[in-house]
Amino acid sequence: MNAPTSPKAALPSNTVVVDHPLIQHKLTLMRRSRTPANEFRLLLREISMLLAYEVTRDMPTETIEIETPLTTMQAPILAGKKLCLVSVLRAGGGILEGMLEILPAARVGHVGLYRDPVSLAAVEYYLKLPRDISERTAIVLDPMLATGNSAAAAVSEVKAAGCQSVKFVCLIAAPEGLKTLHDAHPDVPVYTAAVDSHLNDHGYIVPGIGDAGDRIFGTK
Ligand code: URA
Repeated sequence: MNAPTSPKAALPSNTVVVDHPLIQHKLTLMRRSRTPANEFRLLLREISMLLAYEVTRDMPTETIEIETPLTTMQAPILAGKKLCLVSVLRAGGGILEGMLEILPAARVGHVGLYRDPVSLAAVEYYLKLPRDISERTAIVLDPMLATGNSAAAAVSEVKAAGCQSVKFVCLIAAPEGLKTLHDAHPDVPVYTAAVDSHLNDHGYIVPGIGDAGDRIFGTK
């Protein structure tokens, strides 16, 4: 778990690294240990809005006729499946806020998972998903894709509720987490702002940002 890997080496094919300069700049500010919680939250919200553009890039559109002040025209509007954002508690809430700014009509689900500190396995303590999630595309949100155990468990719950179209969005992924999630759910594309080096012995991403929940909520 300690050995650094080359982050770019052999990423699963459905990994999308959104390395836009604005995102990279904001992520650097977030990584700094001296960045206070209020700035951290704002930066996460801003990055999440930018990630929302990328994760929705393939949403289908259809054409309708509208009237502008000057003429009628055929204009595109969104078509196809509606969205459900699924926040993995508690840090997923930091991404959820920004995503909802761009996708205000999305429904929201929550999965509560904590990591067993010894085994690092994901233990579920809460689940609330919209009833019609099977008719929606789900976007599962968690800032840190570390071991991948929580992500894989959250995606399993969403699929168990009948959802057949699932994407995963995080801020930073570890190569280990990308592999675990891909092995469990090869159909789920992962959108991330960065792929870091490796996990340490406590399952934290290095160099990372530390504990995302603590940094968002200022609990440390
Ligand atoms: N969860 C976090 O909050 N940070 C990490 O580095 C790994 C998991």
